[in-house]
Amino acid sequence: MAEIKPFTYESVPARVVFGAGSVAKLADEVRHFGFNRALVLTTKGQVALGEKMAAQLGDLAVGAYPGAVMHTPAASGEAGCAEARRLNADCTVTVGGGSAIGLGKVIARDVGLPQIAVPTTYSGSEMTAIWGVTKDGVKTTGPDPKVLPVGVIYDPELTLRLPANVSGPSGLNAMAHSVEALYAKNANPIASLMAEESIRALGKSLPVVVKEPADIASRGEALYGAWLAGAALAQSGIALHHKLCHTLGGAFGLPHAEVHTVLLPHASAYNRAAAAEAMARVARALGVQDAALGIFDLATAIGAKVALKDIGMREADLDKAADLAVQNPYYNPAPVTREGVRALLDDAFHGRRPAAA
Ligand code: NAD
Repeated sequence: MAEIKPFTYESVPARVVFGAGSVAKLADEVRHFGFNRALVLTTKGQVALGEKMAAQLGDLAVGAYPGAVMHTPAASGEAGCAEARRLNADCTVTVGGGSAIGLGKVIARDVGLPQIAVPTTYSGSEMTAIWGVTKDGVKTTGPDPKVLPVGVIYDPELTLRLPANVSGPSGLNAMAHSVEALYAKNANPIASLMAEESIRALGKSLPVVVKEPADIASRGEALYGAWLAGAALAQSGIALHHKLCHTLGGAFGLPHAEVHTVLLPHASAYNRAAAAEAMARVARALGVQDAALGIFDLATAIGAKVALKDIGMREADLDKAADLAVQNPYYNPAPVTREGVRALLDDAFHGRRPAAA
């Protein structure tokens, strides 16, 4: 092991219930925290699941609200807060991906309601105390201990309906948390252990998840990887890769998990030399020689889109994206330059396999 540098470690204090069928314990979890007026939150697409969960909670629920929207536009956050106040809810139960959890976080921040998360994607958001809101094309994120869900139920059975074209990018969204956790400003040996294990679990499970969607063991391993990824991110922070994803998601409305998938190989290549030890751990976890190439090949193997031009980005916007991405200085192992970011975006736009080391 390399020399242990000084660090500050803060564990993520959520209570986790994990396992196939564990959503049956939702009412027990609501009671465990002493809540009795839960508002179930979902996106529009998961309305049936939300209503089912509210019915399962019976008298412990005050309703199901399908108003969560990806990237949490400010207006959707305000509407969700108004609904929580109108129904006099005492907690939220978020069922779905990062979008549902994101709305729960805004309600936690602005109304003070604790959240129990039931994640059905691999976004990892349930493990972080970071909220995100989009207004006028700019996505703002910030830390607030109040927004960390108090409890999480990971039930792989709820992910069985997640289509391959959502599962793959969502898993790579989780992997991105772990890759950056290994070289972020507050990287530390404990978070790095979780990050490396998460990359191993995701690298092994995702190819099975997309080829055999009903394989419950792989679904479980992917959720476990996402959990560790979110926790690792929460304890160490982010750098160039997440900054670029937030910029492209907020300014150009690109889908979140897909942007992560496209950019991760290129951000890894950008940091290859400056974060050599972290990249060696990524490569070891994936069983490959080079992290950037290994991630690109994994994305291709699971049928994910690997070019920005295929997920809604316009070539004419690349200059603006590069300008936005370098506007405010932030930590990254390799220096962040306008020229370097513009070249990275060009490779990502065309979906080129990163150059070998
Ligand atoms: P999402 O929540 O919008 O879900 C993606 C898609 O999957 C949606 O179409 C949804 O309807 C569908 N889906 C979800 N569960 C399903 C199921 N069980 N079966 C079938 N379909 C299902 O997207 P996401 O990628 O999970 O999350 C993205 C959002 O989360 C973004 O707003 C992003 O900023 C945020 N996020 C935040 C953090 C954080 O730490 N704050 C981390 C990661 C992501």
